[in-house]
Amino acid sequence: MLLTPEYIFKNVEAITPEFLRQKGICALVLDVDNTLTGDGSQQLEDSVSAWLDTMRAAGVSLTIVSNNTAKRVRPFAERIGLAWVPLACKPLPVGLMVARRRLGVKKNQMAMVGDQIYTDRLAAGLFGIRCLYVMPRTPHDKSRGVKLKRKFEPPFIRKYYKKGGTLYE
Ligand SMILES: [Mg+2]
Repeated sequence: MLLTPEYIFKNVEAITPEFLRQKGICALVLDVDNTLTGDGSQQLEDSVSAWLDTMRAAGVSLTIVSNNTAKRVRPFAERIGLAWVPLACKPLPVGLMVARRRLGVKKNQMAMVGDQIYTDRLAAGLFGIRCLYVMPRTPHDKSRGVKLKRKFEPPFIRKYYKKGGTLYE
């Protein structure tokens, strides 16, 4: 239960203010690699930039929690003007604890947005918040650890669809 996604989105752009409002979510914790951009990439796609603007306009609080280093996360986070937590050790919930304090919301008002089952989905589950799982933005993962974890993700994705889950796109 801690690994099967509760929601699967094609990408972050598919997450709408309406969806969040319906679920009572007003704050999002964002992963970076293969969620907001490619793995290790500093590229900010126009569609992602527009999505961030839409979220801000809707009054959704945003912060970044990444397992990657400050060196990797800082330039991207500063570019999009978001606070960030590096080396978050997801699936340990410590980064999410920091994020929750920073966002100033209750657990049921926030959600983790990320592309890895064993990292983002599990961290959200262990911390006790919802995860809006997004499909990896690119098929490329740099870290060997991530590549290994990917191999064990498909059963949980299949389980989601088997239980009647839909792909939000
Ligand atoms: Mg990621």
